[in-house]
Amino acid sequence: MKQEPGLTKFGKYGGQFVPEVLMPALEELTEQYERYKDDAVFNEELNYYLRDFGGRPSPLYHAKRLSKEYGTKIYLKREDLVHGGAHKLNNTLGQALLTKYMGKKRIIAETGAGQHGTACAMAGAAFGISTEVYMGAKDTVRQRMNVYRMELMGAKVIPVRSGSQTLKDAINEAMRDWVANVETTHYMIGSVVGPHPYPMMVRDFQSVIGKEVRTQIMGKEGRFPDSIVACTGGGSNAMGIFHPFIGDDDVALFAVEAGGGGLKSTDKEALHSATLCAGEEGVLHGARTKVLQNKYGQILESSSIAAGLDYAGVGPELAYLADIGRIKPCYSLDSEALEAFHDLCRLEGIIPALESSHAVAYVKKAAASGELGDVVVINISGRGDKDLETVLGVKHEN
Ligand SMILES: *Cc1c(COP(=O)(O)O)cnc(C)c1O
Repeated sequence: MKQEPGLTKFGKYGGQFVPEVLMPALEELTEQYERYKDDAVFNEELNYYLRDFGGRPSPLYHAKRLSKEYGTKIYLKREDLVHGGAHKLNNTLGQALLTKYMGKKRIIAETGAGQHGTACAMAGAAFGISTEVYMGAKDTVRQRMNVYRMELMGAKVIPVRSGSQTLKDAINEAMRDWVANVETTHYMIGSVVGPHPYPMMVRDFQSVIGKEVRTQIMGKEGRFPDSIVACTGGGSNAMGIFHPFIGDDDVALFAVEAGGGGLKSTDKEALHSATLCAGEEGVLHGARTKVLQNKYGQILESSSIAAGLDYAGVGPELAYLADIGRIKPCYSLDSEALEAFHDLCRLEGIIPALESSHAVAYVKKAAASGELGDVVVINISGRGDKDLETVLGVKHEN
């Protein structure tokens, strides 16, 4: 079941569907990552930063009141307590350190809502590496505070005014930059997506989550959980907590996607972002994976109340694991996520990200049917302070 470390494909998914000019850059990155990933000095330094800068290990918390309300024993993996308020720093610290070991002087990235850009800016500042973040001009207006955060930490935010002026245009610009400056520059991708080696590398950097859970749950329960539940946009927090458990067939793994307003689509738009549940095989951002597309193969506009889940693709390894039945794809609607958001706030004093609330909402629905078993771990991928205006907006609409 485990993938060979050097394998470019997860079954029929993954690979490197990129313009020829990018191939040398990907080959170099693959080589360098293979060289350092098991290197003792590299890992010692990475662990130092994860611990003393990032605040790891994050706690595994027995949520007693939520457990009582939902009718199953629930542990929360507290990635919301990691520096920056989400799991994203695990990956950016790893890639920033790799940038340093590769002898490169500059990091570029693209960001939609600004969460990944902010995590890049943090890691760039920590290592003193110049960081430039491409962002759709529309997104820079919508996410003013994240632009300011990045700038405070010394990153340069470059507004992209081409096309729809959103994430996909920012991705194009970042790619163009990388091709032109590959000798000096590392391109930091924020989830388990894109061409090989990114899905594998980002998964490995995020696997610190699942490795910690293995030790922590043994200490508390003396056994592994019956199930692990994680929200899935690109899929990095999900792969991070799932990966160390892939070989443990008794542990059921639930990938909860954003069901938005329901799993309906028009020719141009999906009312959701449930790619594993409702997508079809295609190529997006350099990898073969499942994609939300119409019958002509055009990418649909995705939708979710949670900006971090609002993506028309999904990591290729998740598509593979879904096909072979090792993970169970499922979804929560916007309305269900909001309800779960309020449950966790009220019952536990924890304000979760709207992304993470999708995972909580699925547990609420599924606990009653018994499909989750007796001990459940939910990955709380981030904190919800960034989402308060969204939640407030929904309240006022009603
Ligand atoms: C970005 C983000 C996500 C979605 O990204 P994945 O790669 O699917 O993990 C989920 N939760 C939070 C808090 C995020 O910031």
